[in-house]
Amino acid sequence: MLSQRTIRNKITASGVGLHSGKKVTLTFHPADVNTGIIFRRIEGDKVIEIPALAKYVGDTTLSTSLEKDGYKISTIEHLLSAIAGTGVDNCVIDCDGPEIPVMDGSSTEFVFLIQSAGIMEQDAAKKFIYVTKSVQVNREDAVARINPYEGFRVTFTVDFDHPVYKKYPQSASIDFSQTSFIREVSRARTFGLMSDLEKLKANNLALGANIDNAIGIGDDEVLNEGGLRFSDEFVKHKMLDAIGDLYLLGHNLIGEFFGFKSGHALNNELLRKIEKDKAYKIIEIDEIKDAPINYLKAMSEELA
Ligand SMILES: [Zn+2]
Repeated sequence: MLSQRTIRNKITASGVGLHSGKKVTLTFHPADVNTGIIFRRIEGDKVIEIPALAKYVGDTTLSTSLEKDGYKISTIEHLLSAIAGTGVDNCVIDCDGPEIPVMDGSSTEFVFLIQSAGIMEQDAAKKFIYVTKSVQVNREDAVARINPYEGFRVTFTVDFDHPVYKKYPQSASIDFSQTSFIREVSRARTFGLMSDLEKLKANNLALGANIDNAIGIGDDEVLNEGGLRFSDEFVKHKMLDAIGDLYLLGHNLIGEFFGFKSGHALNNELLRKIEKDKAYKIIEIDEIKDAPINYLKAMSEELA
């Protein structure tokens, strides 16, 4: 049986929110089987529990936010991507502010935290979202779609009309039966044009953004010392975002995601349509050798 997973030990980290610029502390706790991923916004004596599920998604303008009872936790996607990519099913995450810290702009520090806490298999079968039919949503020319697929594959194309973006691949496809999320995707950082950053800051957004937690793009080059981590880092970051957004279905996905210029708003619209159309069934995997997602098996082997 492929088992559910949680973290072995409690672990804490701090950082600043990309948009708020405010310092936030996160504490990850191990959780019982079938808990799922739950955020707890801690406000003084008040504790507001918000499950990481599509129905709690509020604002999706520049990031994915969860909202409940008037409380918000924004920019959850990079953290959720790390949780999806390490196959963690159950975890409670305390957050003492309105925004998850940006860390280095990718998922890699969250992956490191989860690995440092240790991953523990639990005594219950892991559940998967098994896609049974294609579902597509569109907004102007942007597309987000899932298809049935015996594995987990993500194909993404961006289409930025800017000389710097045009120097690098704008399309990528990764089959996670052959490729590791941790190695190939988790390190891809968020990015933006320096010219847009000034406008965002004037509107009190991206206040925490700087060259240590994002790729800054000038008129004709990447401004970060050391350049990009991968030649296709921009499109890989969009994949990382989509993997985080997809985890709001509540379990790892067996299927294919296809995105063309998709972002958080369209990804969330897709999730809601997947649920409305009942385009999946929940399955368990009896034999680990039958698991169609290799990175999960690879993780188990590392643990063994
Ligand atoms: Zn992102």
